[in-house]
Amino acid sequence: MVLLYKTISMPKTNLKAFSGQELESLFREWDLPAFRARQFLHWIYERHAVSIEGITEFSKDLREKLAEKAYVSNLALLEKRIADDGTEKFLFGLEDGESVESVLIPDDNRLTLCISSQVGCAMRCRFCITGKLGLRRNLRAFEIVDQIISANRLISPRRITNVVLMGMGEPLANFDEVVQALWRIREHLKISKRRITLSTAGIVAGIRELPERAPRINLAISLNATTDAVRQRIMPVAKANPITALLDACRRFPLQRGRRITFEYVLLKGVNDTSEDAKRLTALLKGIPAKVNLIPFNPHEGSEFQRPDDERVFSFQAILMAGNLTAFVRKSKGADILAACGQLKAGYR
Ligand code: SAH
Repeated sequence: MVLLYKTISMPKTNLKAFSGQELESLFREWDLPAFRARQFLHWIYERHAVSIEGITEFSKDLREKLAEKAYVSNLALLEKRIADDGTEKFLFGLEDGESVESVLIPDDNRLTLCISSQVGCAMRCRFCITGKLGLRRNLRAFEIVDQIISANRLISPRRITNVVLMGMGEPLANFDEVVQALWRIREHLKISKRRITLSTAGIVAGIRELPERAPRINLAISLNATTDAVRQRIMPVAKANPITALLDACRRFPLQRGRRITFEYVLLKGVNDTSEDAKRLTALLKGIPAKVNLIPFNPHEGSEFQRPDDERVFSFQAILMAGNLTAFVRKSKGADILAACGQLKAGYR
């Protein structure tokens, strides 16, 4: 029995799962000085090393010793698609066989990566295909960050300059792992907090807690309606998070100097696209440093909604602008490869 027991090997430790501090204490337990942990982080986050073996700054001996008890996990690139407008969509496989999508959006001098925070999503917004999957599981912090590490490797020598948590999942419903990921994106990937945006379906408690726990990043709110009745019909999360409470949390949200909260508004024909809606929206956002991104609905298989015609979209925008709101119409990028807002389903049926 004893012999048999000995042949069963201990599972190896995934070094990517640790924060910088945790890694230093782990290395200390293994009699390695703190600077080894810092070297490790540099090679993994900035120098595209995909294994302990690849950290050539470590001696061969050290690499072999580490590899006996530890390893470095990586996302598997399962598929890459490029849209006519240059948007790229990556399908990444996770260690347990689940998968997520990330979308690379090149734009002037920026390279924005839209990353996922969950496999699937529990919010069940009726216009979004990710919601149809339900929640399969939360991503771990390292899996969230790994989407950026992998993308950086794939586009090298270019680098991701901006990150938006707007892919699959509701980031504030996976709060602790997302907060961890935000710190690592800032400290290890060295992306400035001004270039990181978290988008939420509007979980009030999470919006309140975020500035206390995470770096001061930009906030985007998927508002999508101007009355609770309509909002509740298209976004079940609105039942527990009424518009007044949501906007109140936005008013209290500490913004960086000169920054505004982004309000996303999916335009659904005949549902939330009337001139009255535009006027109500202007009134609701009074006093909040805000900008509005109007997103004409992106259709997907079996969707019950339609996109309003351009005339309606632009007159909606005109009403907001007449009320002194900054409002953009977002051209949906990557729709031909199902990489646009609300079209991510990572190959799931
Ligand atoms: N759960 C977060 C992150 C997802 S962001 C959130 O809700 O903010 C996805 C953005 O795309 C949201 O603003 C959402 O309102 C928008 N969206 C979802 N489905 C869409 C669709 N079919 N067409 C256009 N925009 C959509």
